[in-house]
Amino acid sequence: MSFADLGLSEELLRSIETSGYTEPTPIQAQAIPQVLMMRDIIAVAQTGTGKTASFVLPMIDILAGSRARARMPRSLILEPTRELAAQVAENFEKYGANHKLSMALLIGGVQMGDQVKALEKGVDVLIATPGRLMDLFERGKILLTGCNLLVIDEADRMLDMGFIPDIETICTKLPAQRQTLLFSATMPPPIKKLADRFLSNPRTIEVARPATANINIVQHKVRVTSRGKREALRHLLLTDNVTTAIVFCNRKTTVRELNKSLLGLGFKSGEIHGDMDQSSRIAELQGFKDGKINILVASDVAARGLDVKGVSHVFNYDAPWHPDDYIHRIGRTGRAGATGRAFTLVTDDDAEAVDGIEKLTGLKIPLFDLSASEGGAVASDTAQGAETRRGERGRGRSRGGAKPERTESRQVEAAPVAPAVVDVAVVEAAAEPVKQPAPARKRRDEPAREREARPPRTEKREEPTNKTRSEPTAPTGAAAADSGEWNGPVPGFLGVSALA
Ligand code: ADP
Ligand code: MG
Repeated sequence: MSFADLGLSEELLRSIETSGYTEPTPIQAQAIPQVLMMRDIIAVAQTGTGKTASFVLPMIDILAGSRARARMPRSLILEPTRELAAQVAENFEKYGANHKLSMALLIGGVQMGDQVKALEKGVDVLIATPGRLMDLFERGKILLTGCNLLVIDEADRMLDMGFIPDIETICTKLPAQRQTLLFSATMPPPIKKLADRFLSNPRTIEVARPATANINIVQHKVRVTSRGKREALRHLLLTDNVTTAIVFCNRKTTVRELNKSLLGLGFKSGEIHGDMDQSSRIAELQGFKDGKINILVASDVAARGLDVKGVSHVFNYDAPWHPDDYIHRIGRTGRAGATGRAFTLVTDDDAEAVDGIEKLTGLKIPLFDLSASEGGAVASDTAQGAETRRGERGRGRSRGGAKPERTESRQVEAAPVAPAVVDVAVVEAAAEPVKQPAPARKRRDEPAREREARPPRTEKREEPTNKTRSEPTAPTGAAAADSGEWNGPVPGFLGVSALA
């Protein structure tokens, strides 16, 4: 299967070639022809499977040719975070290089004025986070009545972040006659409901089972006590051929403390968490990209959706509270054909969380025996939960015992930092900390509040939709794509004027 078989235009095939994709991923191969046929789709595929290009590429061809009208975006892409929104914008820039598409990015942290100005001219593609879009909407700065194509990307993240009610509102502002594409790594019931309500006769495309972890990722759980976590991590960092790693913690304070401790041990580590301003996050990511550091300690919110691939290891220093966070976290490794390793440190308190993860992935995560791995003498204490003994011995043991400092620093240095395979998309557009209008919209580092706040929002009573739509929506498009002759020009029925 090649991109040329999917019905994309020649210009687009050229920019795809220039940017280096040789073959479509399975989700792209299945989704792109459907999107070109103007079908609604629900595409479920794990993180890292190339969902972005599944909509960006066909959208470029669909939108090419016709003009944007003032204040009316022709298409809308909703993203849960500004980082993801900026990444999608980058994709449009890259693949749309041979097209003249106008685009606006509507995200927190950038001057609203500039965004509004861009919108007033009218854009072909509006990429937005739901919160910012709602703000603008409420100020009457934007009309969505000419918007015939809607993408709800990372739907399960949207759910996590409490954006579903906003998305519902946004959906009702768009013309009923539109194409809607929904992408998600998992399909929890509230997302299913959203799709039932706002998509028309969608084609469901599933690549692998929903929420199945990537087979290229070797997963382990490691039994630890909470006080044995640092030592277990240190041991694994030194013995498991770690070249690049992301270490996830559930709390910002843990991120900071752990990074400090790793630096103290001579590791080249850095940190990103939600309290850092955007420029510091960018600087830290750049360091990771350049190979100045090879370990990045992160909170979920800071790492969400970042296009970081080729990481050799993901460590869950804390077992994630939400099972789908597990999928997202470990999805940072084992991408694009490379095998990665994911270790989750589990304490007795994590039993429930691990249970949830194993139910979701349908996989019993094998237990990793630290004492059997190299230098196991150190680790076995950790794994056996000898809290008091460890406490007494403290650092002296880990420095001077089974793992002399000499060995440690040699290993740290020897661990080849591989900047070439770490691809971090750094977001320039959002230069200031995000200002979240409603408390429910951003609370990833505060799970307790999140759990409380979420159900009422997502369970909000839904009224039946009165959306009706004739099928097939796009006879011209369908015919053209079936004959393999689709070549980009936008069909008349897509024109904004037809529906405005
Ligand atoms: P998802 O949204 O499914 O998590 P992304 O769209 O962010 O995944 O893509 C994950 C990574 O795979 C990105 O770095 C992207 O550039 C890369 N990628 C996507 N499609 C292809 C392809 N056809 N060939 C090679 N790499 C690809
Ligand atoms: Mg994505």
